[in-house]
Amino acid sequence: MGKIQIMDEWLSNKIAAGEVVERPSSVVKELVENAIDAGSTSIEVFLEEAGLSSIQVIDNGSGMDEEDALKSFSRHATSKIEKEQDLFRIRTLGFRGEALASIASVSKLTLRTSDGEGGVHLYLEGGHLKEHKPAALRRGTDITVAQLFFNTPARLKYLKTIQTELGHTIDFINRIALGYPKIAIKLVHNDQTLLQTNGRGQVQQVLAAIYGAHHAKKMLPFEASNNDYKIHGFASLPEVTRASKNYMSLFVNGRWVKHFVIQKAITNAYHTYLPIERFPIVLLYVEGDPQLTDVNVHPAKHQVRLSKEPELLKLIEDTIRLTIREEIRIPLAEKKEKPIRPAQEQMNIWNPVKASEPVFDEDKLTSIVERLSGDTSVVKEPYAPLSVENQDSVQYEDTYDEMSQTELPAEPFMESIPSEEEQPIVQPEIKRHFPDVEIVGQIHGTYIVAQMEDGFYLIDQHAAQERIKYEYYRDKVGEVNANERQTLLMPLTFHYAADEALRLKESKEALEEVGVYLEEFGLSSFVVREYPTWFPKGEEQEVIEELIEQVLKARKTDIKKLREDAAIMMSCKKSIKANHFLNKEQMERLIKDLRNADNPFTCPHGRPVLIHFTSYEVEKMFKRVM
Ligand code: ADP
Ligand code: MG
Repeated sequence: MGKIQIMDEWLSNKIAAGEVVERPSSVVKELVENAIDAGSTSIEVFLEEAGLSSIQVIDNGSGMDEEDALKSFSRHATSKIEKEQDLFRIRTLGFRGEALASIASVSKLTLRTSDGEGGVHLYLEGGHLKEHKPAALRRGTDITVAQLFFNTPARLKYLKTIQTELGHTIDFINRIALGYPKIAIKLVHNDQTLLQTNGRGQVQQVLAAIYGAHHAKKMLPFEASNNDYKIHGFASLPEVTRASKNYMSLFVNGRWVKHFVIQKAITNAYHTYLPIERFPIVLLYVEGDPQLTDVNVHPAKHQVRLSKEPELLKLIEDTIRLTIREEIRIPLAEKKEKPIRPAQEQMNIWNPVKASEPVFDEDKLTSIVERLSGDTSVVKEPYAPLSVENQDSVQYEDTYDEMSQTELPAEPFMESIPSEEEQPIVQPEIKRHFPDVEIVGQIHGTYIVAQMEDGFYLIDQHAAQERIKYEYYRDKVGEVNANERQTLLMPLTFHYAADEALRLKESKEALEEVGVYLEEFGLSSFVVREYPTWFPKGEEQEVIEELIEQVLKARKTDIKKLREDAAIMMSCKKSIKANHFLNKEQMERLIKDLRNADNPFTCPHGRPVLIHFTSYEVEKMFKRVM
């Protein structure tokens, strides 16, 4: 007897599920793409436990009639390809017709859909139809995928933490929002809205909703075309850089794809503008005849093969390079070949003595430039500030900040201390050691002026002190010593809600690592009887409360991050603020401490501590040299 058998459909669906359905985010992807293909203008995604317990996608697209709804679960059921040549001009996101069948085979799926006339409600368990009844609905589709992988426990094992899985989904939804600014997209996780766009078609609004208005403002629009392709998008100013290439998003005919060669073309455009291993944020939309763009390269449809690629690459590289050249405002240390518009020439005096991403306090800079040059035209916004109509974006920004506490993998724009691999890259010509300066005096109770033969320096005393304190607390928090504790006469008491108290009990050890010794006291209260002697004086209670707050906010306790946050938080307490007079001794002390710091060039938030005005540049300003 022959050994070969034709697999039954159910089994082959389950095998196909392994290809298409890898994790909750792949389910979200397939469902959202279907909603887009159905012409929706509103898509809402609700997740419970990062999608592991439930994923619901509600759209207002074409919906399906009863017959199609039933058919949509058989393998290779698709309304999107009828003839062979359709495969070569694919306009829709889906086309293989296997996603719904695969997802249904590994979950408990409810489909409610209506084409505007009749409505139908279907319920499937592991791909087997269990319920089939009419439903009264408006036009659109509502799919709930519950208990994903309930019948394939092996798959479950491959999943990472809730945070990681959620991170993948956020990442995907962000890209969809960027790719489809005309669709109002909402992402809700356990009742918390993580993203909401207004669907009015303004990419800038989406950028602001995702990255915050501050970063969105630093994205420059561009547009160009050749005979075959049209490109447009946004490119970040060179002052905004990232340690990962993930922030370059490419959409080919509306589909988000990875394309390493195009990524290379983009980074080439930034050549000499960015430090090594730093990358821009770029949003690139490529439109071209679908016959030139073959997406049927990979089952997950992440890749694309492009015809006339060399011409397209050149178009992309040239356009982006020109865009940033025209708008460049703050030259980096290496500036000889950089074409700078005359009005901006004086910006050359900025030569921050550090080489990480130049995160400047622009207001401060503007006022110094004004004071020094008497010229208010120097640091002008080269483009109108962004108008963010939708309040949701603001709300999202907050939520997003909170989210970032949970250490999502590809979280964009966390304004935190650079991690090990994100340490500022020091360019060769920049001094690694703190210059051996002589103090001249203080201006505006804010900056210390110091000189050397090669020019003079402005030192931001507040940033300097934050850096010194940060390193002090970092070392202290890094190794909490039992001998450095003081016992309180009157213990401090803290009360929390029941669920928070539970969370704190679980995190007791983590808190001890940063010097907070909680003793349970009743159901949801705690007392603290001692704390480290080095906690900022007079602020001990506040420090303890803030550390507890950090632990409560983070859904998962990460000791390394907790330590880092603790050190930054403590360093901000009682630092010398601006407008504070320092005598010569205090200034000397500050400079001496700074000289001993591991990284004296940036404050813990990444802002420069000192700025160098070279003699040459000053002489140039006075036209003593040309
Ligand atoms: P594909 O998207 O590759 O065609 P799927 O398995 O994802 O395959 O979907 C099968 C079919 O079900 C689609 O071709 C479409 O006709 C229908 N369908 C799925 N989701 C929706 C939706 N949200 N709205 C309308 N029709 C849908
Ligand atoms: Mg599909």
